[in-house]
Amino acid sequence: MAEFVIQVGSRSAQGLRPNNEDRFVADAARHVFLVADGMGGQDCGEQASGMAVDIIPRVLHDRLAAHDDAGRAVQQALDEANQAIINAGVRQCTTRRMGTTAVVAVQQADRVYVANLGDSRAYLIRGDRVELLTVDHTVAAALARNGTLTADQAKNSPWGNVLYKFLGCAEMTEGADVRPFTPEAGDRLVMGSDGLTNFLTDADLREGALLHRNPQEWADHLVESALRRGSKDNVTCVVVAFNRE
Ligand code: CA
Repeated sequence: MAEFVIQVGSRSAQGLRPNNEDRFVADAARHVFLVADGMGGQDCGEQASGMAVDIIPRVLHDRLAAHDDAGRAVQQALDEANQAIINAGVRQCTTRRMGTTAVVAVQQADRVYVANLGDSRAYLIRGDRVELLTVDHTVAAALARNGTLTADQAKNSPWGNVLYKFLGCAEMTEGADVRPFTPEAGDRLVMGSDGLTNFLTDADLREGALLHRNPQEWADHLVESALRRGSKDNVTCVVVAFNRE
């Protein structure tokens, strides 16, 4: 089994928004990483993403301690967070839908399990290869995948802000797909909310991984560049570095 020294960097910026509805977990000791981008306005968005970062690591920890399969544990954690947020939304957020995206990564033995709901993303950077590990669950992205919209049309579509899968979604028929990968020395995992990823190219990630070996320095740089490039949203980033001792 490959042993890595895992280092993590993280940063969340409110940007121009009146509050920060993004939350993250960057727990190098427990090998759990998570970005959640809340929605629903007022306190609802913050509450939804706050519940995600509270519930998901706790369920993961319990399920893994009980020797559950890691992929199943991730799905279970997302299911429990989904149900809890649906219930809280029914009680408290009557005018707008309360919900949050989530992208989660957990390392267990020699694999990392990644899953998402919504449009927060995870990228794996290995050498000069950049791979998007997640699927955007926006209506625009789904229309682009089935060929109804071109990539350019999807980018400017009003459906780009409409999620069909997220935590707090009562109509979700199937949960998250879990995407495992086997880390190699030098790998970088970058996770971010759309306030970050809308202002990020593959070339940025390829070059940044070489330039910023320190994950905290890179997370700071990524968030600052998104803000500089005009992101008006909350901007959140978690960078995980897999290094050989
Ligand atoms: Ca956002």
